[in-house]
Amino acid sequence: MDARLEAIRDTVLARNPGEGEFHQAVTEVFESLGPVHDRHPEFLEGAILERLCEPERQIIFRVPWVDDAGRFQINRGFRVEFNSALGPFKGGLRFHPSVNLGIVKFLGFEQIFKNALTGMPIGGGKGGSDFDPRGRSDAEIMRFCQSFMTELYRHIGEYTDVPAGDIGVGGREIGYLFGQYKRITNRYESGVLTGKGISWGGSLVRPEATGYGTVIFAEEMLKTRGLSFDGQRVVVSGSGNVAINAIAKAQTLGATVVACSDSSGYIVDEAGIDVALLRQIKEVERGRLKDYEARRSAVTYVDGGSVWDLDATVALPCATQNELDGAAAARLVRHGLLAVGEGANMPSTRDAVAVFQEAGILFGPGKAANAGGVATSALEMQQNASRDSWSFAHTEERLTEIMVGIHDRCAATADEYGDPGNYVLGANIGGFVKVADAMLAQGLI
Ligand code: GLU
Repeated sequence: MDARLEAIRDTVLARNPGEGEFHQAVTEVFESLGPVHDRHPEFLEGAILERLCEPERQIIFRVPWVDDAGRFQINRGFRVEFNSALGPFKGGLRFHPSVNLGIVKFLGFEQIFKNALTGMPIGGGKGGSDFDPRGRSDAEIMRFCQSFMTELYRHIGEYTDVPAGDIGVGGREIGYLFGQYKRITNRYESGVLTGKGISWGGSLVRPEATGYGTVIFAEEMLKTRGLSFDGQRVVVSGSGNVAINAIAKAQTLGATVVACSDSSGYIVDEAGIDVALLRQIKEVERGRLKDYEARRSAVTYVDGGSVWDLDATVALPCATQNELDGAAAARLVRHGLLAVGEGANMPSTRDAVAVFQEAGILFGPGKAANAGGVATSALEMQQNASRDSWSFAHTEERLTEIMVGIHDRCAATADEYGDPGNYVLGANIGGFVKVADAMLAQGLI
């Protein structure tokens, strides 16, 4: 890492102790930025990096709620409003027991660059809670969401901060959050949240967008080597919204997706995953992946273990951060891997990224490859602002244009900085320069 940047990075780490994922995300970005600062000394003089690493505002709050047995429960809520140089803070809410300030900050930091890469007018933020939705009844989920919004509402707004979903937050939760916001504020402010239902201000394609976008990005990478998804053997991790839609899109493009996983294990379906069955189990029944095995022939369910033990030509990690380590990356590379598209946020460890890059694997980092979700959230905001709703075909066409645009911008930036094919460099520099220019223009704030 460039010595000037290393000194700033060390201060950031010392000032934010114990936030390992945040340190990881910051270090990865800083490693790409040396050449930018050689060309743009004004970014150093303007303390852009120091400001980028210090969120504009961090909100931590108590979320009290009553469970079905009448017991009082207390969770912790977060919203980190990281950077608003390009637009209102924008980013999802994650409900998962692993959520803490460091996790929210790594996600919020990544979101700044991701959102800049989309070319849409959105800043970066993230939030969530250590609430564990697993095993909770619908009524408990509703009470939790209502309590969460009873504090959050005062911090958000169409022009201020626009949350959406992430792990543990889907259409149902956005509905309860939106209802409570509307009740408290007495405003039908559609643009305050994205990921809404179609009949109350949502956008077609938003549910599919992150998974579809990841595959569109990976397809563009494959094309640079005269390849495509057609005929590829794909392994996906996760089985939530991102994974399911990535599987659907990859198979539409002619790939066979042979496996996906949840936190208990993974399924292997050599004939190609039956997306309708998977949706039924995960989205309708809210069940576990294990249920898939009994309902389809020639399927193996592996209890525990890692889906990255399987061979694939294309790997799409769509589960969570740091799920794919250096050893798994090395094994995949030895067994014929061609490309990786990150559907999750930072799913590959720094070791894994290094292995992929040294082996010349096409590697699409999350902040570029999974930007289709937030980009389509921005399309939802456009529709809300104009009180319009677009067709599926039109919205999907816009998503495709945006993903191809992100791919091309990352590739062109990597070329410009002398490292062709390095999408990590392209994404970090491409996102950074856009935000840095806007921050300089707006003065020291
Ligand atoms: N949570 C998603 C992400 O990681 C989407 C955020 C949004 O739509 O605002 O980008």
